[in-house]
Amino acid sequence: MMEGRGKVFQRILGGLTAALLLLYLFCLPRDLFKGTRYSTVVEDRNGELLGARIASDQQWRFPPSDSIPDKFRTALINFEDRWFVFHHGVNPFAIVRAAIGNIRAGHVTSGGSTITMQVIRMARGKERTIGQKFVEAILATRLEWRCSKEEILGLYASHAPFGGNVVGLEAASWRYFGRPPKELSWGEAATLAVLPNSPADIHPGKNRNKLMEKRNRLLGTLHERGYLDSLDLELACEEPLPLEPVALPRDAYHLVEHHFKESTGKRVRTSVDVHLQRKVQAVCDQWNDDFTQRGVDDLSAIVMDVRSGDILAYVGNANPERSRPGSEVDIPRSPRSTGSILKPILYCSLLQEGEILPNTLLPDVPINLNGFSPQNFNRQFVGAVPASEALARSLNVPAVHMLRRFGVPRFLDILRKCGISTMPKSASHYGLSLILGGGEGTLLDITSIYSRMSASYQDFTEDFPLKDKCALWYTLDALKEVNRPDEIDWHLVSSVRKVAWKTGTSYGFRDAWAVGMTPEYAVGVWAGNAKGNGVPGLTGARTAGPVMFGIFNLLPSGGWFEEPLSEEGITAEVCHDSGHLAGVDCTRKDTLLLPKKALRSDPCPYHKTVEGVRTFILPPSMEWYYRQHHPEYKPYIPAKKEGNSLMEFIYPEEGATITIPRQLDGSIAGVTFNLAHRTPDSVVYWHLDNEYLGETRFIHQMNIKPASGRHVVTVMDEDGNSLSVSFIIT
Ligand SMILES: [Zn+2]
Repeated sequence: MMEGRGKVFQRILGGLTAALLLLYLFCLPRDLFKGTRYSTVVEDRNGELLGARIASDQQWRFPPSDSIPDKFRTALINFEDRWFVFHHGVNPFAIVRAAIGNIRAGHVTSGGSTITMQVIRMARGKERTIGQKFVEAILATRLEWRCSKEEILGLYASHAPFGGNVVGLEAASWRYFGRPPKELSWGEAATLAVLPNSPADIHPGKNRNKLMEKRNRLLGTLHERGYLDSLDLELACEEPLPLEPVALPRDAYHLVEHHFKESTGKRVRTSVDVHLQRKVQAVCDQWNDDFTQRGVDDLSAIVMDVRSGDILAYVGNANPERSRPGSEVDIPRSPRSTGSILKPILYCSLLQEGEILPNTLLPDVPINLNGFSPQNFNRQFVGAVPASEALARSLNVPAVHMLRRFGVPRFLDILRKCGISTMPKSASHYGLSLILGGGEGTLLDITSIYSRMSASYQDFTEDFPLKDKCALWYTLDALKEVNRPDEIDWHLVSSVRKVAWKTGTSYGFRDAWAVGMTPEYAVGVWAGNAKGNGVPGLTGARTAGPVMFGIFNLLPSGGWFEEPLSEEGITAEVCHDSGHLAGVDCTRKDTLLLPKKALRSDPCPYHKTVEGVRTFILPPSMEWYYRQHHPEYKPYIPAKKEGNSLMEFIYPEEGATITIPRQLDGSIAGVTFNLAHRTPDSVVYWHLDNEYLGETRFIHQMNIKPASGRHVVTVMDEDGNSLSVSFIIT
């Protein structure tokens, strides 16, 4: 009988033990601080604080950090829990000592809680009763089983209250002392070690004396235990307590704001270098003071490391603390008209595909493509210009010719592969104006493209559509021209670094760009008004340009790109005058290292043998403008009856579709036809569909008003040479 009861008792006991063990195993939630809301903390590449945003429950509570600095660690353990590293969550001697102390004092003076137990209490947020303390003790032993001592200290440091809405060591260190925990002095570390015990003591009032006493007592203990010498003790005890909470750093304001939206409540490590960031910000703030007086309120800049592609500095907008309409706009991520800033990509693309050579002569004559008639910035035409010079001088008309030759869909495809993320529409939507700012890009994307061009040339990246060494080399070379006096106020730039750079100015003077690259860095600058209003005189060269050079001057200066090796291209003879592959009739030839597909390009079309003489002949329309800028050019006077090579329509081109706008009164405005004749003083007779219109001399222009439909205009000169162009009026 007795034996049976004993077995039952044993079983019950065993079951109970197992149940208790299970209960113990699962008593601690997997995530102790589940649901806790944290501040958003944004750091630079070395973990320096750039800025932070308060948690959604209005607490300054930084996300847990994995390092506890030694001074705070020592101060905390010596104040709260001297045997922390030895016990297993509970210290019976401390409890007994606390109990005796409390009885003697007649009220509760000390809890005898270990740091581990305090972590449990912070996580559970329950009242301080004997019963709760018992539960805390059990959970503390369970926590010790799960976490290392360092992890437990980390949980404590991240969640301890430090008065007001300041939670955790890191937030407290920044809010009270304006620096990271690792830079705290002994006095400061001791203040923060004693504060969680009665956090309200930080507030101004009589308790501050109590706080000071506690701190100094702890400092005394640390001295007795050999952590600091008597001089350190003396100095530490003289340190004042913090007064008002100090403001957190506000570096890279817009970048911090961006991460606050993207990663709320997280700690974000960026690639920014806070020291460079501050210098770049200062340069931008200073220029911004100047620009605002001219009505240009906003200025933004990015510095990228070419090798890694990292953003080293990010000025979302200058002087962000001055609240003005638009100052909150994160400009590097805002789509803006690209002006001329994409021209190097087009030039490089044509070179890479062998569609032009570096100095191929491009037409610079008026064009009118159904109402789209681009102008150069200086409103002049030079007739014909080498492609490299057209890029360096940012001529619009040759750029449109280049894009027409390359094709808008192909170019749009390359832009997207390069990383332009803000051109979602079809090629026909943008049309040829794409190369003159008809599409939008962000400063971030565009600076990144320039950075990757530099990287691609140096083989730092594979995933970039422009990779032909010689094509990239000639592009960099054309852009390095710093002698562009019409473009920039050079006296604004203290010293000029060798940089491959390009400016851009959008239609209506709304956006001014300057983006440059060296073998090490890419710098992008945008100036304008975030609100979008244009300012006369706002040009890339005069505003953004000097800022860009100012930023390059902050960076360590490296050398220049190394020339491509002969096996990285193809060597061929090039006509010195036309830049095309040399033909049999070309007189002066240069031997150049060219992009690999260069042999696909056209041979020189301008050198011809006429009547036994080698002659350089431009088409009439190009010649008309070219000879005005090139006195050495000998116009070709042909034998009679040479027809087409004597005259050429500048406008329209064969087969053009022309929409004639109606004037306000409803009448038809008419359209002006434009003809070039090699001997301008010839008389030219004009006909529309065989109907005589009139004659012209010197300037061969005729305004006509045809009805809708298909038409032919025929011109005939006094020698009987004739030329026709057919077109459609819609
Ligand atoms: Zn030639």
